[in-house]
Amino acid sequence: MLTDGNRLLVVDDQPDILDFVGQVAEAIGFKVRLANNAQEFREALHEFKPTLLILDLQMPQTDGVELIRELGNLGTRAAVLISSGMDQRVLVSAEQLGVAHGLKMAGILQKPIMLADLEAVLTQYLQVPRAPTADELRRAIDRAQLVVHYQPKCRLRNGEWQVVGVEALIRWQHPEAGLIYPDAFIPLAESTGVIAALTDFVLQEGIRQLGTWRGQGVDLDLSVNLSPHLVRELDFPDRLAELMRAHALDNSRLTLEITETAALEDPARTRDILTRLRVKNFGLSLDDFGTGYSSLTQLYRMPFNELKVDKSLGLELHQSREARTIVRSLVDLAHNLGLKVCTEGVETAAALQFLEVAGSDFVQGYYLGRPVPAEAIPGAVHGQPKLAAVG
Ligand code: C2E
Ligand code: MG
Ligand code: MG
Repeated sequence: MLTDGNRLLVVDDQPDILDFVGQVAEAIGFKVRLANNAQEFREALHEFKPTLLILDLQMPQTDGVELIRELGNLGTRAAVLISSGMDQRVLVSAEQLGVAHGLKMAGILQKPIMLADLEAVLTQYLQVPRAPTADELRRAIDRAQLVVHYQPKCRLRNGEWQVVGVEALIRWQHPEAGLIYPDAFIPLAESTGVIAALTDFVLQEGIRQLGTWRGQGVDLDLSVNLSPHLVRELDFPDRLAELMRAHALDNSRLTLEITETAALEDPARTRDILTRLRVKNFGLSLDDFGTGYSSLTQLYRMPFNELKVDKSLGLELHQSREARTIVRSLVDLAHNLGLKVCTEGVETAAALQFLEVAGSDFVQGYYLGRPVPAEAIPGAVHGQPKLAAVG
């Protein structure tokens, strides 16, 4: 979710007032910058780009009225609240001055500032998070705001869980809202068609990154999430093979993760594309198995070679006998159909031990490694492996 930013800049020469206002504003949801004098205020105005200002009218050296004039000349768009212990008429007149200078005046805070008044006015100016728009998302790709993080995928080898691959997970590094997670924008990308450009980006970036790691002596497999909406383009398998060839990588290094909704729209075409991907030796994983979208029939109708157990099950393993029973059955089911199993959401040693006994071929989860920027992956590969519980 996005906001244009709830950034509050407070200028007051009394440190206790700054602390008080700062604490209340932060608790409500503002990012806060405090300025003790006009000079600090000007600097913060420039770099912090506040959305709301609280101005003390009486300060040594520069007073609030001068600052109002300055803000007017700068064409500031932030809302301005004035605070002072002076009588109401002075405050009202300062407020009118602000309006005359074209400022968005937000009202008056009479000192001593009452907690309830402060909370009321701050809440009124707190912008509610809004969903990103398709245009912003489109621009995000052009402006290189999309980044790919990688989460280790581990396999049991010689009694140790070793990192043998990574899953590419997209994030949006928004200049104001910070890091936005895919659940907040993938549905928008899918409904507006931006998903095609987004997926191209993740594939190109991920495949390029595999090549870079290999050059550093780190040989890994890559999993990329493929939106069901994209399993429609008949030339997709060829384009992908071309991309792998350009980086001198074997197709078997790449697995595409798809949720079952994929197959529902046009089963014949989906099967055509998925089969050609498998013929070309790409991996195909049925993602989020065990959620509402799951359907057992996809497992044998479509040429998947991996089943990915949804993290909602993985997260429950350490405390739910039912979750353990289901996962054990899914592992057996997948193995009987000739598929490998990867369990997601492994957050505890207990879950990992259970999965080892149950025979999950791969595991993924915070206990083994969170999604991290590409640079952190070689360290994760060479880091302390999780020892197996049983020989
Ligand atoms: P997913 O493919 O099932 O990815 C796994 C999600 O589980 C990731 O969330 C990952 O960070 C999270 N996770 C992994 N281990 C743990 C754990 O131990 N505990 C907990 N609590 N969470 C864990 P993320 O990165 O937020 O991705 C969410 C979903 O967004 C993905 O689910 C995938 O469906 C979608 N997505 C991400 N990147 C892309 C992309 O490039 N293209 C498409 N189409 N979808 C993507
Ligand atoms: Mg996935
Ligand atoms: Mg999943």
